[in-house]
Amino acid sequence: MANVIPPRSGTAFTLARGQRLTVIDPCGEQVADLVAFRADDIDEVISSGRTIDYASRIFLTTGDPLYSNRSNVLLEIVEDTVGRHDFLLTPCSADTFRIIYGDKEPHRGCFGNLAHALKPYGIPPDRIPVAFNVFMNVEVDGSSGAIAVRPPLSRAGDRIVFEAKLDLIIGLTACSALQSNNHAFKPIHYEISS
Ligand SMILES: [Zn+2]
Repeated sequence: MANVIPPRSGTAFTLARGQRLTVIDPCGEQVADLVAFRADDIDEVISSGRTIDYASRIFLTTGDPLYSNRSNVLLEIVEDTVGRHDFLLTPCSADTFRIIYGDKEPHRGCFGNLAHALKPYGIPPDRIPVAFNVFMNVEVDGSSGAIAVRPPLSRAGDRIVFEAKLDLIIGLTACSALQSNNHAFKPIHYEISS
């Protein structure tokens, strides 16, 4: 039975080496921000820069490892029914909504939700890295580098499966940004299996 992350919220949990995390989009067009820290040393964390560097690609899918800042593999994507995710953009935050959307009383966003969920694990907000943005569809113009956030390609029931390569602390959200989710906030489901 799947665990449910309600719309515009987040959670954190441990994932042991060898366990698999399945992230499911139950309704379609919903992004989930994922961060991962090494459980026994939170100074080690997923690294967008290293992962993209070693993959020589910005779009990652089945078979791609997610590296840490110390170049260890923390997670590997072992199944992916969508094939489009983002690993460039930082979690949406109150500042995102203030700066990009002009909100006067902004929601705390994925960043605030992750900070809240990771606090019991002793992880302060400033340690939160660029997230692996599951199902986020960021279009990149190859010559100018211009980016545009498009509706996710995920449909109801689509999933991505990660395998932990070390003992990890995972932060996971149902994203709170209008643009990223085609202007509708939906839940995210996840399952952990060994
Ligand atoms: Zn978000």
